[in-house]
This record gives sequence, C-alpha cells and structure tokens, in this order.
Amino acid sequence: MNNNPYAWIEASLETIHRADWYRSVQTINSLPGATVLLSGQKVINFASNDYLGLAGDERLQTAAIKAIQQFGTGSTGSRLLSGHRELHRELEQAIASTKQTEDAVVFSSGYLANIGVITALIGKRDLILSDQYNHSSLKRGAVLSGAAVIEYPHNSTAVLAEKLSQQRQNHRRCLIMTDSVFSMDGDLCPLPELLDLAEEFSCMLLLDEAHATGVMGKTGAGCVEHFGCTGRELIQIGTLSKALGSLGGYVAASHTLIDFLRNRAPSWIYTTALSPADTAAALAAMKIVQQEPERRQRLWDNVNYLKQLIRDNLPNLKILPSESPILCFQLPDAATALTAGKHLKEVGIFAPAIRPPTVPTSRIRITMMATHELEHIEKLVNTLKGMQL
Ligand code: PMP
Repeated sequence: MNNNPYAWIEASLETIHRADWYRSVQTINSLPGATVLLSGQKVINFASNDYLGLAGDERLQTAAIKAIQQFGTGSTGSRLLSGHRELHRELEQAIASTKQTEDAVVFSSGYLANIGVITALIGKRDLILSDQYNHSSLKRGAVLSGAAVIEYPHNSTAVLAEKLSQQRQNHRRCLIMTDSVFSMDGDLCPLPELLDLAEEFSCMLLLDEAHATGVMGKTGAGCVEHFGCTGRELIQIGTLSKALGSLGGYVAASHTLIDFLRNRAPSWIYTTALSPADTAAALAAMKIVQQEPERRQRLWDNVNYLKQLIRDNLPNLKILPSESPILCFQLPDAATALTAGKHLKEVGIFAPAIRPPTVPTSRIRITMMATHELEHIEKLVNTLKGMQL
C-alpha cells in the first residue's frame, strides 16, 4: 500500500495530460479589448466575454476610481454585517428596472448567485430538472441542494414534459433550470415552452442570463426580452462580468423571492459584499447599455458579418447552431482542437480550443465583440480557410 495520501494527485494529473485535457492559464498584459497582448504577443481577441467592449471603457474606470476614493477598496463585511453601501442598492434598482422585475440582489459572482439561489430554494425532498448543457454553477448548485436531479437532453422539451409527468407528483417543490444562451455552444433555450411547462406542472424556473445580459433583446435586458416573455414569473440570474465589464452576479425576481434570498442564500449572507469599485463599474455599464444601443447593434453587425463570410468561404466548416455572439467550430478530437488553437495563436488570433470535460465534443470557440473591426473578422476567416478544417 502506498502510504502517501497525496500520491494519487500526481497520477491523476498524468491521466489528464495523456487525454489532452490539461489546462493552464495564459497571461494578458494589456487593457481588455478587441486586440490584447497575450504573453507579449499582439493578438486579435476572440476569447473574451466582454461583448460590448466595456471592460476597458474609461467611464467604467472613472466610476470605479471614484468609488474607491469614496468608499475604499474593500466592503469590509457581508451585506448584512457592515458591507452594505447605497451603491449596491442603486445597482440592484438599475438591474430590476432593466429586467422589469420587482426587485434584484447582487452577489459577489454569477457562480455564487447560482449556488446561493438553488440551495436556498431547493432541498432534499425536491426535484431539479436541468438541461444537460447547463453551466457548471447550475450543476454544482443542484448537487449541493441535495435534491433529486434529472438532466434532460439539451433543449428537449419533449423529454422534460415526460419526466415532469412521471416524477413531479413525487416531490414537494420542483425547479427547472437552464442557461438562456448556452455558454459553450451559443444556442438559446426554448424559453416560452419552458415557461409553459413550469406553469403546467407548478415548477419554479431558473434562467441563467449570464451571456444574454446586455446582448440579447431590444434593450439588452436578455433572452426574456428577446422572447417577449417580460413580466412572466421566473427567476433570472446573470453576471456583471461579461457584457457589463465588471465582476459580480445578480438575481432578478419578485420582492418576496429576493427578500427570502437575503435571509436564506448562504453564498450571499456569509460572503463579503461586492467591492465598491466592481459595484460602481457595473452601475456605469448598466447606464451605457441603456444609453448606447448602437454598441449592441455593432456587436450584432459583427456577428452577422462573420456568419456571412463563413457561409461564403467556408461551406464545409462544422459550425454548431448559434443565435448569439458565441460561435463554435466543431473538431474531431481534443488534439486537433489544440493544434488549431495553437496555429491560430501563432498567426495572431486568440481563439481557444474548448475540450472535454468542459464540453462533450472538442471545438474552437469564438466570441464576438462590438469593438472588433471588419479586418479582424476577415483575418479570422482567411486564416481558417488556409487551415482546411
Ligand atoms: N453562468 C454561465 C452560463 C456562465 O457562463 C458563467 C461564467 N462563465 C457563470 C454563470 C458564472 O458567472 P461569474 O463568472 O460571474 O461567476
């Protein structure tokens, strides 16, 4: 018997290496933007969630600096202890107003928001129905809740309906949960049908709007707006760290539900409040999202231009169905995806390989930004053409 209780870790890492699943960080040492310095090399950035190009915006920087000068760098405690500032409330009101919900509450990250909401609302006697492609934070929250969890095949409302009619009556509460824009594929959930099923079977519905906030819908309110479902009863979660260029998460829902979360969500109650700088930057971003719809228009123009160039030049490229600024090119295996990502980087394009276990099949994932220039998109397509994928 091997007496070293840590020896298995090295063996496990070796297995990860052998499967081409090993992951490591890459250093960016410049402001975020459509081009960045990646380990000193200037690259066109197709790997950022900064959809509207706000993470480097001077107005967000100024708001963050002012907040630091006024309130300091740290919040010094949880919201219920000494961490609450008027800025938090202003941000929550701005989110509720954009989402047209009664109230909202901000968490220190989207991941913590998902875990907090699920574990507050659902317990051992309950049932969770979760899309197979949901984000890790939803899946982890489901495990932590202790509930019975059924994963339904991606976007299959038929299987979901079947499971509900078989299982719903055996459980106290039921939560259906789904990403609205699927983060690693770029397609959308069938929201109106999911809301209908939730109503029919008396289930709560949790919608993760992380990649939809600021991006989807006429005013950037997300997929609820995109699908014309504003005002229907559900729980919306999102992040302040993608199109809003800051850090943090939010939940938007009824007064009662938000009030309940402030009393029952452990990852809100027992963690330090969002920092003044992050809060102020997100609030500045919320205002820009409302005041500058042309940013969102530029993002969609870029998405459409890329799709058109691909149609015209790369008819054999296997693109996963997408209705968002996330576009994925499917590749046969992890090694091919890694080689493709490496080649793209060598020619100055940052578009990473995404592999199992993050996703079921290996791919190159592209995220578009409002601040990409036409020539950035053209260089990407010309390079892919030369690679004969
Ligand atoms: N949900 C989804 C769908 C996400 O893609 C992410 C971030 N990758 C999160 C939640 C977590 O958000 P945050 O980064 O703010 O923790």
